[in-house]
Amino acid sequence: MIKEILLASHNAHKKEEFQKILKPYGIRVIGTDDLNDIREPIEDGDSFKANAYIKAKFYHDIYHMPVIADDSGISIDYLGGYPDIHSARFLDHLDYEEKNKLITKVMRDIKDRHAYYTCVICLIDEDVHFFEGILHGKIADVPSGDNGFGYDPIFIPEGQDMTFAMMDSDMKNAISHRSLAIKKLVDYLER
Ligand code: IMP
Repeated sequence: MIKEILLASHNAHKKEEFQKILKPYGIRVIGTDDLNDIREPIEDGDSFKANAYIKAKFYHDIYHMPVIADDSGISIDYLGGYPDIHSARFLDHLDYEEKNKLITKVMRDIKDRHAYYTCVICLIDEDVHFFEGILHGKIADVPSGDNGFGYDPIFIPEGQDMTFAMMDSDMKNAISHRSLAIKKLVDYLER
């Protein structure tokens, strides 16, 4: 079984989430920052899957070791499914606090609040594999909570009464789109 995986991401939050979930399986996660590698591929794919592959392939070609990359985002029905694969760049001139405030303001009287997070992980070892996690939920009336990152203060997962940002990391990791995809990755690694 793989003991060490390079995570193709500079996002410290993501590395922490991956590390926490994979540690019990004896897998160490190295981030590109640990290698002092600041290079980044251009993510110009038209799907989460395509972008995850672009990132994993970029670092696999350089380091020739098992690499995982994830691409993720939130899709909001009221915004026609947007921002989806554009989640990181959506409303780029605003910080997340401002973005989240604006989204909830625009959706103030809107009944259809359905949204979902998607995470696709691409693993390149001797082959290329994809693992997908989708988590449905809704957009909160107002942003709440200080944990997590990105759109967490406005996303309430199905069956819950608080936003991701109100949960501690263990609670988020137990149900998140990323952990759903990671569980599928782990099932593969354990085989
Ligand atoms: P990526 O790093 O290219 O996958 O971009 C993902 C973007 O989607 C992030 O920058 C966030 O805006 C959003 N996103 C993905 N997963 C999460 C999450 O778990 N919480 C909050 N925002 C997320």
